[in-house]
Amino acid sequence: MTEGLEGVRLTGVWAELIGQERAVSVLARAAAEPTPHHAWLITGPPGSGRSNAALAFAAALNCERPEVSPRGCGQCRSCELAAHKSHPDITRIATDKSVITIEEAREIVRQAHDRPAFGKRRVIVIEDADRMAERTTNVLLKAIEEPPPHTVWVLCTPSPGDVLVTIRSRCRLVSLKLPDPADVARLLVERDGFPPAVARVAARAAQSHIGVARRLASDESARQRRHEIVTLPLRLGSVSSGMQAAAQLVELADSEATASLAHRDAAERADLLRQLGVEEGAPVPPQMRSQVKRLEEEQARRAKRSRNDYYDRALTDLLSWYRDLLILQTGSGVDLVNEDLAEDLARRAPATRAETTLACMDEINETRRRLVGTNVAPVQAIEAMMLRLLPDQPSQASRSR
Ligand SMILES: [Zn+2]
Repeated sequence: MTEGLEGVRLTGVWAELIGQERAVSVLARAAAEPTPHHAWLITGPPGSGRSNAALAFAAALNCERPEVSPRGCGQCRSCELAAHKSHPDITRIATDKSVITIEEAREIVRQAHDRPAFGKRRVIVIEDADRMAERTTNVLLKAIEEPPPHTVWVLCTPSPGDVLVTIRSRCRLVSLKLPDPADVARLLVERDGFPPAVARVAARAAQSHIGVARRLASDESARQRRHEIVTLPLRLGSVSSGMQAAAQLVELADSEATASLAHRDAAERADLLRQLGVEEGAPVPPQMRSQVKRLEEEQARRAKRSRNDYYDRALTDLLSWYRDLLILQTGSGVDLVNEDLAEDLARRAPATRAETTLACMDEINETRRRLVGTNVAPVQAIEAMMLRLLPDQPSQASRSR
């Protein structure tokens, strides 16, 4: 429970939205209105809690206890269903997928016209509205233009520019920011019970990405993998060391993906079985097997798609080394992401110039863009990058792009 700048208390469905008091006060107020605006666009960088905010808003719109302020008690039947992601009137298009297909979009539009079955409003949350093809967006556009009175759309994207202007102009905009690492650490301590020292290091290392911070705090091997990635630059020298570092980074990212997805899959499966009323460890009754199978298939599809997210995370971790190095080289005095490596960084800083560090950061960011935006093979892209990160590459400083 935090008393925010805007005077809104982060209670009930809003409890996890640390640092987002401004956005929460707008959304909670809207949820309490008799006729809330029908389309919303929630933006913010990865890890800022866009989908959390959207789902909290969806829950608040349907909360059964209007006397509770901020709206969204977190305790009534409706809020509980929403928290378990099984509210019949809240449709969540969660795309760990690369794209939303046109068939899915049509189905969403059809659902938008149904009257709410249980709550007050039908809420349609599209978590990655930026991953829709224009054709798909056009299908949604009609529905967003002429919505039935009981339906509220909530779209999430990294930035407002990620959706067509025709859609954006119909949406009310709410932007989230990355929370302060200290706030993330406090959440890990208060809600998850981590020791303050562990929470602090994890929040910094995750660069305020709440999900990543929780994972780092809870899993020693995830911390170890991250440590090895961040310290790769210390082992860069010859060309063969560059090739080795690339292979290592790919392997570390792959094993983090496997471990982290296995963790999430198990949690989702347990969640589904709980919803179906199957006791832990008991066999799944035949009539429910198809539901479990569907989940498993979706998980397998997702595993394939989300590999690149883990490469991106690994590159973000690697980038944090150079970012810290640059801070020391420029003497800007900003907090280090990798506090625990302060001594190594301090030894390294005088050995290279800030310009070189910046060129390395450009190189890593360029590789991240290539991995997201093109079909380049990750291993090759990362190898090429590592070779350019090798010290004393005359091409490094002079290369132009
Ligand atoms: Zn409620």
